[in-house]
Amino acid sequence: MMLELANRVAIVTGGASGIGAATARKLAQQGAAVVVADINENSVNAIAEDIRKSGGRALATVVDVRFHHDNVSLVNRTLEKFGHVDIAYANAGIPQGATPLEKVSDDQIDQLLTINLRGVIELARVVAEPFKSQRSGVFVATASTAGVRPRPGIQVYSATKGAVIAFVRALALEWAPYGVRACAVSPVATDTPMLPHFRSAAGSASGDPSIILESFRKTVPLGRLADPSDIAEAVCFLVSDRAGMMTGTILDVDGGRNI
Ligand code: NAD
Repeated sequence: MMLELANRVAIVTGGASGIGAATARKLAQQGAAVVVADINENSVNAIAEDIRKSGGRALATVVDVRFHHDNVSLVNRTLEKFGHVDIAYANAGIPQGATPLEKVSDDQIDQLLTINLRGVIELARVVAEPFKSQRSGVFVATASTAGVRPRPGIQVYSATKGAVIAFVRALALEWAPYGVRACAVSPVATDTPMLPHFRSAAGSASGDPSIILESFRKTVPLGRLADPSDIAEAVCFLVSDRAGMMTGTILDVDGGRNI
């Protein structure tokens, strides 16, 4: 059986954990060679090794997505190792512990803007050249339901995700004449190491992670948290030829939360 993403080369940022790791694995299962990129060196090596042990093709790369030169090295390493790049998934991100706006520190604002927003812009800026010159490619970013349906106390995080949505829609128009697509996934609360860090955003005053997760679960109409594999499925669909007529699409993986 021909695998759907055979011969494709994919970059996944934030690939060492949660949604990124699940997506890197699924892309590799679909036949893509995956460049797993993350700031966490130990974990990124472990995920790439795991993919290789399962018979997939993977390269680990340590990057800090905030920096243009790290994104340049990431794409250059991808081209050196695999010869081309077809899929770029800008997924790395950090949470915001629910905090009244006037208590949010300068450093928190800078980190959220530079990782969650600038990190996405920088990867797109660097893959623009290969995508446009080969006249193919798919860029996907991880937005969030918070970008369209925010929760109290995570106002800066929500702003970054709303901006990611606007950015992807603008890119879709800019790249359409080249046959290059740009989309986003918008996950609802997903069961990853990040989720408890949002703390009281879903209304619970408790610091107990299991109580925090339960407070998020109750806000999802389908009655469960998303699993990282739910988001990975959506990304694998968006980057496949089955989604060839979809660009500027923000695909909610939200169990009904955005209704
Ligand atoms: P996670 O914490 O499991 O994974 C995030 C990864 O990003 C980590 O491996 C981390 O090392 C990496 N990272 C952080 N800063 C980085 C940097 N500067 N450079 C490179 N890598 C960096 O979290 P996750 O839940 O898998 O989050 C993935 C994406 O999904 C994020 O953009 C997040 O905002 C988004 N998201 C998460 C949820 C959720 O509830 N978990 C919901 C909606 C959207």
